[in-house]
Amino acid sequence: MRIAVIARTAYGAKNAFGPIISAIIKEHSLDIPIKVVEENPLSSAAEFKAKGYEPIILYGVSSPLYLELRSEIRRASRLYTVIAGGPHAEGAYWHLLRDGAWAAVVGDGENAIAGLVEALKRGDGPGEAPNVAYREGDKFRVSRIEHINLDDYDPYVESFNLYPPIELMRGCWYRCKFCQVPWLYKARVRYRSLENALRISREYVRAGYTRVRFILPIGFSYLSDGREPNVEAIEELLLGVRRVGGIPFLGSFPSETRPEFINRDVLEAVKKYAGNRRVAVGLQSGSDRLLELVGRGHTVAEAVEKIELVLKVGLQPVVDILFSLPGEEEEDVIQTIRVMEELAGKHVRLRLHTFLPLPGTPFARARPKPVHPLYRRTIRRLLGKGVLEGHWEWQEEIAPKIYCLTALDPKPSPDPEPLPGDIEYCSRL
Ligand code: SF4
Repeated sequence: MRIAVIARTAYGAKNAFGPIISAIIKEHSLDIPIKVVEENPLSSAAEFKAKGYEPIILYGVSSPLYLELRSEIRRASRLYTVIAGGPHAEGAYWHLLRDGAWAAVVGDGENAIAGLVEALKRGDGPGEAPNVAYREGDKFRVSRIEHINLDDYDPYVESFNLYPPIELMRGCWYRCKFCQVPWLYKARVRYRSLENALRISREYVRAGYTRVRFILPIGFSYLSDGREPNVEAIEELLLGVRRVGGIPFLGSFPSETRPEFINRDVLEAVKKYAGNRRVAVGLQSGSDRLLELVGRGHTVAEAVEKIELVLKVGLQPVVDILFSLPGEEEEDVIQTIRVMEELAGKHVRLRLHTFLPLPGTPFARARPKPVHPLYRRTIRRLLGKGVLEGHWEWQEEIAPKIYCLTALDPKPSPDPEPLPGDIEYCSRL
């Protein structure tokens, strides 16, 4: 079968397809026509079809994007072969498969997409590829899970001018119950080697992308043992990028770091060699009780001490706070506000979020609550200080909709089996 691939992006995030397109080219050469589009892909698919190709449409969906694109995915799936990946497909693959997708990627995407393209060429079913969920009659199946070595796949694609942030680590050792990273199929921790990261950085600089951004689930955990930072590796990485003419960015959004991975030596290295002055730190709550309840694994005092160290070294801490976590009570809110005010008084920036019940996490079935009025009052008070950022209002708005995706179809059963009491709640939205 002569196939052509269309990658459907949204909001200018075409870089997200870098590793996937790179994997297709690596395993199948440039023989397969690939197109990246930022609108409904049906007209591009029709054009390929008219030229004798079998179009394959790729979607990569977070839960908020899935809410937006769901009807488009359903229409596209009626006409063409659709492969869906991204966090929503991993956390709730049966949603995409019920929509008609041929396969949902549930683990590492690089070897999954290469295997799916191979299966299509041969006329096989999706179950031949690793890391995919698919349907067999009214049953949902997951194929074998195979973890890749990050060094085996480049994240960039020169011919498409795609140069995404370089992923240095996949998976996480921690078990925060609100976060998808440790609960999905690709949770096992792996690193990109220093040698590989520097070779890729050199390619970025050669292509004119001198600002080399690195992403990791925990900002300063590169090549670490999971308990404390590997300062030597971080220094070698940052200095290595400088030596090839680049400006490295490490530990800024979205790669927030944990308090365990902050020490003076790491901060000095970042200050000396990195381009970012901002250091993202995950605090989430000012209540030890709540931090423990959500499985965070550190205390408020530990985080505040490290935030102050960031300030002392002369960098700008940007602290993530998460409102409306499951189990949050008024006393937790009051304690969190106390910490927010204390940090704001020291010119620490606060990035405010509202809890989202993401599929695949232990909190996927936690019905969201509105943001507590005391938080709103505090936000009004702190607005004038110019230290607030974050999309907490938008997240508050979409949290019930994301919850209802799970509540109305919580597991891969033959037919959706809504959670008791949620049909009425969700129909009101
Ligand atoms: S929030 Fe960070 S530390 Fe916690 S599980 Fe997710 S990636 Fe790991």
